[in-house]
Amino acid sequence: MATHTAEGAEPDEAEAESALETALRQLSAAAAHVDTDEGVIERLKHPTRVVEVAVPLERDDGSVEVYTGYRAQHDDVRGPYKGGLRFHPEVTAEECVGLSMWMTWKCAVMDLPFGGAKGGVVVNPKELSTEEKERLTRRFAGEIRDTIGPKRDIPAPDMGTDAQTMAWFMDAYSMQEGETIPGVVTGKPPVIGGSYGREEAPGRSVAIIAREAIDYYGKRIEDATVAVQGFGSVGANAARALDDWGADVVAVSDVNGAAYDTTGLDTHAVPSHEEQPEAVMQYDAPNTLTNEELLELDVDVLIPAAIGNVITADNAGDVDADVVVEGANGPTTSTADTILEERGVPVVPDILANAGGVTVSYFEWLQDINRRQWSLERVNEELEDHMLSAWNDVRAEVEARDVSWRDAAYVVALGRIGEAKATRGLWP
Ligand code: NAD
Repeated sequence: MATHTAEGAEPDEAEAESALETALRQLSAAAAHVDTDEGVIERLKHPTRVVEVAVPLERDDGSVEVYTGYRAQHDDVRGPYKGGLRFHPEVTAEECVGLSMWMTWKCAVMDLPFGGAKGGVVVNPKELSTEEKERLTRRFAGEIRDTIGPKRDIPAPDMGTDAQTMAWFMDAYSMQEGETIPGVVTGKPPVIGGSYGREEAPGRSVAIIAREAIDYYGKRIEDATVAVQGFGSVGANAARALDDWGADVVAVSDVNGAAYDTTGLDTHAVPSHEEQPEAVMQYDAPNTLTNEELLELDVDVLIPAAIGNVITADNAGDVDADVVVEGANGPTTSTADTILEERGVPVVPDILANAGGVTVSYFEWLQDINRRQWSLERVNEELEDHMLSAWNDVRAEVEARDVSWRDAAYVVALGRIGEAKATRGLWP
């Protein structure tokens, strides 16, 4: 997997794990705490299947190019496979497998009736016209049609894909099946069966979990300070919700650096990535910081919400926050995790904190199956309930087993998956 680094932080190559290595290491760590049958653990080390397809595309100039597409399905013991589809030049089968395992844990920790999947096409979408992207999406949908379906495997947007991609995908699948099947993908525009609040959900869930962490560690949200790295979909929505709930969001950043105000920024006035890409530094803040300095601020909550591998062996010793809530996927390397644990800095993991996205995807799927749209109020209320329930389940394991929040989240997930597998048995 590509190693992305934050400005000034270059984790050495050996420290940054692949998604598959992380997924397998977390499985072993959780297995040490849970009384799950060895055979079940062994089964979870292997994906059910990885489908590879050729995706031919007629370019706008009439030439034909053939891209490779994948769909990795890890486990479906608790329900249909669920996970994103990315269009990215560095997509590999191994990365899809690793990320599909993460989805299995994420769905299980949230107690959603889904298993884990991930897929994508090895392509740089920035080099395609809109029409080429549409043709590529439709052909890919056709090639993996037998693998997916609303009761089998439900894709969603990921890197390089968006609501429009899902609309084309859903249309291509529906045309082939001969009926409109909105539940085949989530993350669609609301006009064709998408859910209100889906876009904001990962950031909103990060804010809910940060709020609970602030309370758990004995602070009032009105007295709490927060720093957020990355002011995109996850970071901006998390920062603005926490700001609305009374916290002082003192620093937010994009790839160019951070806006900093010790009295709290007006987060709604700072342009998010969607509103104006990479324009955080244009906001008239009293101070600016580098991304590296932001990670080392003395705040109550640090939310890394930009990219993976930004808290590393090099800077974990300097993290001065009371608690880290992971907004991005995999922002903390395993070495950094150990250092933070030794220093007594709790890290609330990505699979819990940013799981609002897949949770509202579940709501979208329910709305599609029932052909009944929910109001934004209902979506947010149910998201709040699901996040609190998952938070309480994980907190109970932290307290009962005296383990880190990350290990506790995996213990909850593995406990549910292991019990389901043991109850269903192995066929034949
Ligand atoms: P985005 O593209 O909307 O925003 C990313 C932000 O991070 C931008 O402000 C960008 O300038 C900033 N950034 C990029 N590189 C940076 C760097 N080196 N240092 C500091 N800032 C940098 O992305 P997003 O959708 O908000 O996703 C952010 C993270 O959250 C990713 O790890 C993603 O996988 C994860 N995530 C996203 C979702 C989702 O549905 N959007 C769900 C779960 C997890």
